[in-house]
Amino acid sequence: MIVKDIINKLYKENNANKEELLFVLNNLNNEDKEYLIEKANEIRIDNYGNKVYMRGLIEFTNYCSKNCLYCGIRAENKKAERYRLTEEQILECVDLGDKLGYKTYVLQGGEDFYFTDEKMVSIIKKIKKKYPQNVVTLSIGERSFNSYKKMFEAGAERFLLRHETASKELYNKLHPNSSFKNRIQCLKNLKKIGYQVGAGFMVGIPEQTNENLVEDLLFLKEFKPHMCGIGPFIPHKDTPLKNEKGGTLEKTIIMLALVRLLLPEVLLPATTALGSIDSNGREKGIKAGANVVMPNLSPINVRNKYSLYDGKLSIGDEAAECKICIESRIKKAGFTVDICRGDNVSWLKEHKNI
Ligand code: SAH
Ligand code: SF4
Repeated sequence: MIVKDIINKLYKENNANKEELLFVLNNLNNEDKEYLIEKANEIRIDNYGNKVYMRGLIEFTNYCSKNCLYCGIRAENKKAERYRLTEEQILECVDLGDKLGYKTYVLQGGEDFYFTDEKMVSIIKKIKKKYPQNVVTLSIGERSFNSYKKMFEAGAERFLLRHETASKELYNKLHPNSSFKNRIQCLKNLKKIGYQVGAGFMVGIPEQTNENLVEDLLFLKEFKPHMCGIGPFIPHKDTPLKNEKGGTLEKTIIMLALVRLLLPEVLLPATTALGSIDSNGREKGIKAGANVVMPNLSPINVRNKYSLYDGKLSIGDEAAECKICIESRIKKAGFTVDICRGDNVSWLKEHKNI
């Protein structure tokens, strides 16, 4: 087998089998890497041109009932200073976002059941009443089919729920008292209800092998999410994984490029975690096929409390209010900022008959 041939196959057929993907991950040299990135970029250009979509991220609660070993806001981290935004504060973030030109809001938080379905429905309805054209995306973890349905009916259109890792064994090690089966079922339920769904995984979590990463790629190819969040694992000082090594920029970029080749129409964020490990991480991600950025729209005084990992960016070029800095960096990298809804193109074809 030759790495370049597999990349060419991925480019032409948007597919490769387990052995081929593993061969790429195990044998990619610098020249192959450049080629992979080039091909991934071409596929993105074919599907989305050089547009980068913007989403405003509102981190509305850092209370969480779960204990994911890697996460700084896990329930057992007694050092985390907890906060919840009120409905009014969330709406203020949305107002600011709309004024700045952000048409999609991602409401993200820990699994916080203070925010009951009724509370979420009320927030979603208020946002949609005021800004019917704008999009509400949720990222609030696992809930029942009926909860997801109620929130969809209230007007939420997209949902981000990373599968985290497609290896059941690794999933179980990282997520005490959780069920891999339920996580996957949640993703299926979200799709069935009609959400545009985002899956995704971390790169470089302890004990993760190239075989595991291939499992992630194959899972994504089969599940076909509309969006896919990929970022490096970054240790947090108050978690059980505090002494572990984090994921690298290089490996994350490779995974972004491979996902772009396997899922040409996926919306692929250059994540905050990527921007946090390298000052040009975002730009490098975009050049390898990413086409979404999610600047922070949370109130400034809570931003450092939503600390999933150490060194998480939330100000300067990462902040929604600094739109000009973000836009100029994207333009400098050779791309254009698009502030429309930014739907997945295959979802659009299916749902809007174009
Ligand atoms: N509670 C929700 C959403 C908030 S967490 C959920 O878990 O789905 C959002 C994402 O942050 C997670 O999916 C995880 O992939 C990522 N994350 C958490 N801790 C991290 C860390 N230490 N390094 C990198 N990413 C992390
Ligand atoms: Fe909670 Fe999400 Fe962090 Fe897990 S990753 S502890 S569910 S906020």
